Amino acid sequence: MARNVLSLDSSILYRSSQKHFDKIFAKYNLGYASSLFLTTIYEHEGITMNEIAITGNFDKGTITKSVQKLQELDYVIVKSNEEDKRAKNLYTTNKARDIITDIYLAKQTWWDHLLQDVTDEELSTYLKTNDKILQRAREYDIKESDEVKIFGFQKLTLLDYPGNMASTLFTGGCNFRCPFCQNRSLVFLNEGAPELDKDDILSYLNDRKGLLDGVCISGGEPLIYKGLKDFIKKVKALGLNVKLDTNGSFYDELKELIDERLVDYVAMDVKNCKERYAETIGLDSYDLTSIEKSVELLKMDLVDYEFRTTIVKEFHDLEAIESLGKWLSGAKRLYLQQFVARDTCIQKGLHALDKDTLYAMRDILRKYIPSTELRGIE
Ligand code: SF4
Repeated sequence: MARNVLSLDSSILYRSSQKHFDKIFAKYNLGYASSLFLTTIYEHEGITMNEIAITGNFDKGTITKSVQKLQELDYVIVKSNEEDKRAKNLYTTNKARDIITDIYLAKQTWWDHLLQDVTDEELSTYLKTNDKILQRAREYDIKESDEVKIFGFQKLTLLDYPGNMASTLFTGGCNFRCPFCQNRSLVFLNEGAPELDKDDILSYLNDRKGLLDGVCISGGEPLIYKGLKDFIKKVKALGLNVKLDTNGSFYDELKELIDERLVDYVAMDVKNCKERYAETIGLDSYDLTSIEKSVELLKMDLVDYEFRTTIVKEFHDLEAIESLGKWLSGAKRLYLQQFVARDTCIQKGLHALDKDTLYAMRDILRKYIPSTELRGIE
């Protein structure tokens, strides 16, 4: 019974909030939805429409209409991206900044009203449960696409797949939002980003199967695609080894590929210790069950593998590393990668740690995983 009222409850909350804010924001010619988009743009100046769509699970038509209206009202300006002409970046205007405090205050008042008599403990339980449910909903949504979508292809690499002369392909889309991610355009898929033809890639691999040893499938997160398994089967049919780069959040799919011997090497990003995982992947909270199961699965050594962690000053300290070591204890391999700040990162203003601290982290981790190495130290 409780299950049946979940969506009804959510829609009651949404509609009453909508009614309330529509009334309050009428003086600014704004509705509830457009006020949401306006605050999102204000908090992420330069965001694209696609990024808003992916982050909030909005459909693109709704966003396009709302942004047009915000433009007409002179709350938002749209600029072409200098590096990628297909992408359009959104910025708030002075007129928007004049009313933004009012919008935040109105929201604060509304939430104070809704949460009166709710204790901190009750709220915390509610939010945790809600996050769990939303996580499942988002994963379902992102896994809608059957066909693997490839947006990048590197014909030859000697680095990506240890011991193999390989090609690397990059799938688009990811269920995480790691602030230090270097592949912002792959995660958010800029408007009109050109998808590569899978048949062309398979034909290229077929022509070079005597020269290449394997293919590295990276992303984004490749396992968001239901059709990944079929695609890998085609690559394996060419006699090529397959290395999979994954964030480990799709345990069932990973296990299936390992059980069916469709992957020869798995590189799993373990982003941080459990205590700091959610913030490190750019989410408010995250149910780690799948990640924990993937870690245990790989530790069983049914397939060759490595764990890897990109070290970022804002997310990793010695305490977090000690806790990470305890969690991954007994793993076969762990690489610590030095973060490099680039314009393509999801969040600007993050920093790498100095070499001495990285070596100190490596030494802590070697107590638990003796083979721990540093990668990409400059
Ligand atoms: S670093 Fe990997 S898991 Fe994180 S957002 Fe980027 S592609 Fe996704």
